Amino acid sequence: MRFSLYLHIPFCAARCSYCDFNTYAGQGTLIPHYLQALANEIHLVGEQGRRALGQTVPVHTVYFGGGTPTLLTARQFELLLSALHDAFRLTPPAEVTVEANPNTLNLSKLRALHAMGVTRLSIGAQSTLASELRLLGRRHGFPDVVRSVELARQAGFDNVNLDLIYGLPHQGLQSWQASLRGALALQPEHLSLYALSIEPGTPLHTRVQRGLTPAPDPDLAADMYEWASAELEASGYAQYEISNWARRSADDEPLAPRLACLHNLQYWRNLPYLGLGAGAHGYASGWRYSNTPSPHAYIARLRAQQPAEFPFSPAVETRAAVNSDLAIAETMMMGLRLTLEGVGDPAFRQHFGVSLGDRFRTQLAELQAQGLLSWDGARARLTPRGRLLANRAFAAFL
Ligand code: SF4
Repeated sequence: MRFSLYLHIPFCAARCSYCDFNTYAGQGTLIPHYLQALANEIHLVGEQGRRALGQTVPVHTVYFGGGTPTLLTARQFELLLSALHDAFRLTPPAEVTVEANPNTLNLSKLRALHAMGVTRLSIGAQSTLASELRLLGRRHGFPDVVRSVELARQAGFDNVNLDLIYGLPHQGLQSWQASLRGALALQPEHLSLYALSIEPGTPLHTRVQRGLTPAPDPDLAADMYEWASAELEASGYAQYEISNWARRSADDEPLAPRLACLHNLQYWRNLPYLGLGAGAHGYASGWRYSNTPSPHAYIARLRAQQPAEFPFSPAVETRAAVNSDLAIAETMMMGLRLTLEGVGDPAFRQHFGVSLGDRFRTQLAELQAQGLLSWDGARARLTPRGRLLANRAFAAFL
């Protein structure tokens, strides 16, 4: 069994207007202490994993998420990667992704990241339009994205993802089309398209509540999604997840393109991952767990070094055992996000000792009748209509 590792870097230069992630602005002086704590956690979890599994924990994907991981210097990344190599066995060719903000990259940092084994960059482009980036409170312009991709290519990166957001207030179908086409012109290997969700507690939510900014139109957002699906298909991208597309290549597997994000596939296939850092979530050894979200509390807990058993560290704040029924429901909800792969009966039967058809006969038939799901007796997948109404389909398996 191979694991994935998620490392959370909870710092940003400023908060974007829509952001409800676990991230903090104006805390730059905390970063060195935080990274020391993170290196401690890497060491502790790796050591406990070695004892629990009787071998150094094998890891095939690493994901630095945030926050803005690219606020870190190349030297700071090097220290973290060195700690990872000491504590875990990174099985080659390990996929190592770094989330990046366009105005935090330069050629020397990118060259250093590439040289130390980072294989994939995920750049938060979000839009090509200055007005939309302003509304989102982003601190970059689209020229910064263009420059970042050029620098990434110069540094040797051949796997670049661009994130875009649609369904924005004031955004029309045409401005969305301009954004997506602008991103496609940069020839990214991968695109993630997310519908804007206005989360309580964010400045954007307050503006919408006060009537200062219009709420997004869900019907228009659905039109944007359908147009993007067709446009990306025609542009040589394979959709493999509800929100994710990978550029097609000659050696694609039928159910998962070669350029799909292996780290995120681990989540959607309901396979184990270890969460490291403040607020990070993990799933391993039958537990879902999360670390304390506050960087201050996280640092204090790692300093105290209370004993903890694998997969937990002293920073764990919540934990919940995953019984077989819950594991089955989660397998369905996450697996159905995979639009090509879906949930296959052989793997399901092998894992849970019951066939998919026997376990969910009624649900599969009803969702098929509603046009949300295709089921051929071997594999269940969302239909294009099911992708738009995915939550309704997922609820059937709870
Ligand atoms: S850069 Fe990302 S994590 Fe940071 S505030 Fe903006 S949306 Fe949130």
